Amino acid sequence: RQFDRTHYYMKLKILALTYQHSISTFKFYYVCAVAMAAVSCLLLLVSFMSTVDSYTIPSDYNTERNNLINSEKSMRVGGKLVLNTQEQLVNQFIVKEKRQLMDCSRLNRTGYAPAVSFFQSKSWIESTPIFKIIQKMPKGASLHLHDLAIASLDWVIKNATYRDNVYMCTDKNYYIQLSVFKNPPNNPDCPWKSVRSERSSSGNNQEFDLRLKRNISLLTTDPLVTYPTVDIVWDRFNAYFAQVIGILSYAPITRDYYRQALVEFKADNVQYIELRAQLHGLYDLDGTVYDPEYALNLYKNVTEEFVRDNPDFSGAKIIMSSLRLNENSNILNDIKTSMILYTKYPDFFLGFDLVGQEDPNHPLIYYINTLLYPSQQNPPFNLPYFFHAAETKWQGTESDYNLVDALLLNTTRIGHGYGLVKHPLLVEMIKERGVAVEVNPLSNQILGLVSDLRNHAIAPLISQDIPVVISSDDPSTWEALPLTHDMYVAFMDLTGEDADLAILKQLIQNSLNYSVLNQTESTSAFKLWQAAWDKFISDTINTWNLVNGGSQTSQICEVLKPVTTQISGSATSLKYVHIIFVIPMYILLSHAYIFLTTFIFL
Ligand SMILES: [Zn+2]
Repeated sequence: RQFDRTHYYMKLKILALTYQHSISTFKFYYVCAVAMAAVSCLLLLVSFMSTVDSYTIPSDYNTERNNLINSEKSMRVGGKLVLNTQEQLVNQFIVKEKRQLMDCSRLNRTGYAPAVSFFQSKSWIESTPIFKIIQKMPKGASLHLHDLAIASLDWVIKNATYRDNVYMCTDKNYYIQLSVFKNPPNNPDCPWKSVRSERSSSGNNQEFDLRLKRNISLLTTDPLVTYPTVDIVWDRFNAYFAQVIGILSYAPITRDYYRQALVEFKADNVQYIELRAQLHGLYDLDGTVYDPEYALNLYKNVTEEFVRDNPDFSGAKIIMSSLRLNENSNILNDIKTSMILYTKYPDFFLGFDLVGQEDPNHPLIYYINTLLYPSQQNPPFNLPYFFHAAETKWQGTESDYNLVDALLLNTTRIGHGYGLVKHPLLVEMIKERGVAVEVNPLSNQILGLVSDLRNHAIAPLISQDIPVVISSDDPSTWEALPLTHDMYVAFMDLTGEDADLAILKQLIQNSLNYSVLNQTESTSAFKLWQAAWDKFISDTINTWNLVNGGSQTSQICEVLKPVTTQISGSATSLKYVHIIFVIPMYILLSHAYIFLTTFIFL
């Protein structure tokens, strides 16, 4: 029994020692766990501070910085324009959408769809809230357009080619040309066939029409392969005009095509256009070929009739355009015709321009004596010019110096002026004289001057409030809307993330200010525009529920790059993500770690 008692005490002592050892070991593990958690928290805090605290800017510095940024902002187009309370609601929504899209691309290194080839971005652009808003926006005037590329190809295919006496032929480059004949002439290189019979024998009208449209349109899914150089795309562009000039110069179709263009511009919320037209070559089925005055009257009559039917439309005016590959004698004839038309139709006929690819064709200086002809009359005749100038990437060439001649010849506006930014003195001159630059962003991209539209050469001039108007050149050639697509890319690419509704409003007001409307017409046009603008603002507020913070819009980042699932908007949002989620989560995990360590030991 004594042995048993001794044995019992020994067992008790061993248990006590084990317990004592356990306690000290437990303390060791506990201290280790707490120390590790503390070190981890410290490391997290350091990384957190390095992310967020870089935005804590000393207040003096911040004031100076903001002053500099705001001073520069006020120098750009629309920089001094003040938005009213209603406009600010729309503005907040537009800016939020723009910022989200730009930040998404910049911070997540995803593609930026608004700046890539229009051929690839077109349908994506059309799905965005900003596009839908700009589409509804009253956009004032479109001042740079060409007669054969203003109404949609759908109308040409579905309406014009369904008429009597329309013929087609396929040339050696497989381009289909369209024309109208009472009896088609023998044409061995491109034999004419009746479109009606061809369509009928195809057995599928829809398919036939689609193939016809694809053959005429410049739209392609692989622009870099199809149009690798400026010259190749210009060849294709020139081919387009050869394809449609026959059918669109048939006077009854010219009339309806032009009327359809006015319908489409109005539907796209453009209220006034200034159109460059060749005026030569309109014909009728009996073989009559009409003179430029007939063509001008055709445009005038259709315009007046359209304005009568649509009193909220401000009309259209015509600029005669000749090809810059013509000889001086032809150009002189057109100048003389322009002088007659300008005298006879001062409220409808505006002046003269030369068109065609500038680099390989005659520069303005080649025609200088012809172009000086009006001013050398006694008394001098003031024929206004509206020259295309420096639609080129070349610097210091004759095509670039078209800018110099355009200004010396007192051009009213400059078409494209893509090279202007390289000429500081000329930039000063156009600012002083109020010579507006007609910017056609999509045309410049499609015709090879710039691929990423954020690099557009006019962007620096917009930031200096150079007189700029946005237009669309030849929108139907590449199946763009009359003005919305160009206005969209101008806003998303040629202006910055912090450029807002004010810049759009100013660009639109510029389009009316730099038009050639007379004082009465201008007052009336601005009145119409202001009413449409006010309605647009209140409609936009309602449509997008802006009083209650705006409708939820789609996750733009996911559209741009499907694998992207998280939008990290900015350092500010990152800070809140840390505070709300990461730190509490980390504390929770630290405690779980300590608890588990203790549990395993026990
Ligand atoms: Zn043009």
